[in-house]
Amino acid sequence: MNAGGEFGEGAAVGVLTTGPLDRILTYLAPAGGCGTGDFVEVPLGPRRVVGVVWGPGEAGFDAARLRPVARVLDTPPMRPELREFLARAAAYTLTPLPLMLRLATRTPALGEPPGSRRVYRRGPAEPARLTEARARVLDALEAWGGAAVTLAELVRESGATASVVKGLVAQGALIEEEAPRDLPYPRLDPDRPGHALSPGQAAAAAALRAAAGRYSTTLLKGVTGSGKTEVYLEAVAECLRRGRQALVLMPEIALTQGFLARVEDRFGARPAEWHSGVTSTERRRLWRMAAEGQAQLVVGARSALFLPFRDLGLVVVDEEHDPSYKQEDGVLYNARDMAVLRASLADAQVILSSATPSLETWANAAAGKYARLDLADRFGPAVLPGMRAIDMRAERLAPGRWISPALVRAVEARLAAGEQSLLFLNRRGYAPVTLCRACGHQIGCDHCDARMVEHRFLKRLVCHQCGETKPVPEACPNCGAAGRLAAVGPGVERLAEEVAALFPQARVRVLSSDLFGTARALRAEIAAIAAGEADIVIGTQLVAKGHNFPLLTLVGVIDADLGLQGSDLRAAERTFQLLRQVAGRAGRAERPGLALLQTFQPDHPVIRAILGGDEEAFWRAEAREREALGMPPYGRLAGVILSSPDLQAVFDLGNRLAREDAALRRIGAQVFGPAPAPIARIRGRHRVRLLVKAPRAAPLQTALAEWTARLRLPANLRLAIDIDPQSFL
Ligand code: ADP
Ligand code: ZN
Repeated sequence: MNAGGEFGEGAAVGVLTTGPLDRILTYLAPAGGCGTGDFVEVPLGPRRVVGVVWGPGEAGFDAARLRPVARVLDTPPMRPELREFLARAAAYTLTPLPLMLRLATRTPALGEPPGSRRVYRRGPAEPARLTEARARVLDALEAWGGAAVTLAELVRESGATASVVKGLVAQGALIEEEAPRDLPYPRLDPDRPGHALSPGQAAAAAALRAAAGRYSTTLLKGVTGSGKTEVYLEAVAECLRRGRQALVLMPEIALTQGFLARVEDRFGARPAEWHSGVTSTERRRLWRMAAEGQAQLVVGARSALFLPFRDLGLVVVDEEHDPSYKQEDGVLYNARDMAVLRASLADAQVILSSATPSLETWANAAAGKYARLDLADRFGPAVLPGMRAIDMRAERLAPGRWISPALVRAVEARLAAGEQSLLFLNRRGYAPVTLCRACGHQIGCDHCDARMVEHRFLKRLVCHQCGETKPVPEACPNCGAAGRLAAVGPGVERLAEEVAALFPQARVRVLSSDLFGTARALRAEIAAIAAGEADIVIGTQLVAKGHNFPLLTLVGVIDADLGLQGSDLRAAERTFQLLRQVAGRAGRAERPGLALLQTFQPDHPVIRAILGGDEEAFWRAEAREREALGMPPYGRLAGVILSSPDLQAVFDLGNRLAREDAALRRIGAQVFGPAPAPIARIRGRHRVRLLVKAPRAAPLQTALAEWTARLRLPANLRLAIDIDPQSFL
């Protein structure tokens, strides 16, 4: 496919590899030559690694000592736009370029020719006897929505053995066949008629269509249920009509299912999916089809931003305020911001969709950098829920109870009317604290500076930082007193107990991310709730995200004050977004909704803003406060986390960094710290944080690079820089 290119055999070429060395390495072009952007395999030490030809090699090497490129892979070359994106994203996040390349090559068997492979799909017969292992195989197959999968994938996903699969083939319950790899996706037809839009929706859709074909960013703001998805699907249609590719990013895999069905309705076929739950065969197929322009629409998690689109024309970031767009592990990047960067390089349109935008996006729109479209009303007869505070200072609750009499009455009324209630508490597990009544000791994690959380379903204590678990002890590990350990405070599991006692006749479901082993189980649960198979739903922040529960008319927030306690810069913003989103779950269909917020501080400005519903006033107040403090988005922050098993070593280095801050002072930046990070120890590593605050226009990255360049890190000490930190853990 890539025979030739600008470098003839034996010419020195620069190759960016995914290997550990943070440099462009020089190799000799192979027989037949190669060109910039070609995917290649090169020897690196004893191994062979994947790389991309980045340009001419470094001059001045003795050609006799250079090794040749092993082979050019049979895959479309990386386009200049994607190379530029990786380089700019690396520079912005201060990430070594090889790590960036890794994000763009996370696909199996990249260089192997198409060929064919043996796959399995459902056959006409039912298995003779549905053993547990057989059921798991059929379940796994169904989870992929009828896609043909390989034996390896079936075995991995179902946990059954290959012989179980073969047995099902023998019975005709499965069909084994040879299938060509990398089939193109079914065509989406943008000209099929969509829903008739309301006048407000039609105006927004027209504005988006008018902006198609070139770079621009638009905030699409509308209350939940106003039809934002309906409207941005019109922008997708326009993009497809122009023959370009569209990408829709979603914060949560569980959300994509409903969206896939809507796309099928609108365009007559399903889009391609990209996230951790997709088979490796599918990932390879999508990667190739994206590069060849055959995948018209991709729905995916943040890493879909690194796909090799041939002609990306539109990126939609759905629920753009969602904190999970920030990758907090490995390469620290914010997918929302990187989407804007990639789109600007690809000359593509960006739509940021949310009912409660991030302050960054709100401010960019206010400053005229982004366009803004508002959908004011819910679609059809649905109206926004009423919201009221329940003043907990005036309510009488027995010890160990968290549902106030006022909220109990409201739930009872819904039960009588055959409607659903949602009780929201953003705390997984049974109880956040296990306390010894004899000595006051609280059981903590051995490796982290965190309390262990009791999970009764698991019958264990779990550390939410590192995942370590242990049985709930009989006696206090500190004083040895037996039978004196008590669960303190509520988690969703404990709330479920209280609900069962209060409403014994109600059907109760708990939605918490840790209670579902697979994305599929979670999806099934959400579908069951939407179909009315529950009277009371108890949920963590998982329920806040975009689900549509038509029978739900009451939302009770158990602890509206919970998010306000932290010292986090974004505490107010996050609480506002989360509680508005949760409240938005109520009354999505014909029946009006009500949201009740249990709070001990009904006069807190954030609680009042949530109840009052004057969102613009809230954003303006929040913006003024941040501006006065020089905080983002009016100033810039970078977090530096040093970690090591050796406490002294991290503090020594932290102090040295704080002292030797000339590079930062030159750009008008200040350093705060070192201080123990809010979670001072994770997995046995002590963590110390410095915070750098800079004026908005300052060249922060250059200064940070200079500041940390001269450091010689002792073994086992890690330094991570987080540009625009979202949380301060
Ligand atoms: P949002 O994304 O703002 O939460 P959705 O696009 O999901 O809103 O719309 C909410 C509900 O209203 C969905 O069930 C959707 O199908 C329906 N809906 C919105 N607009 C229309 C329309 N113009 N015609 C028919 N149904 C619509
Ligand atoms: Zn831990």
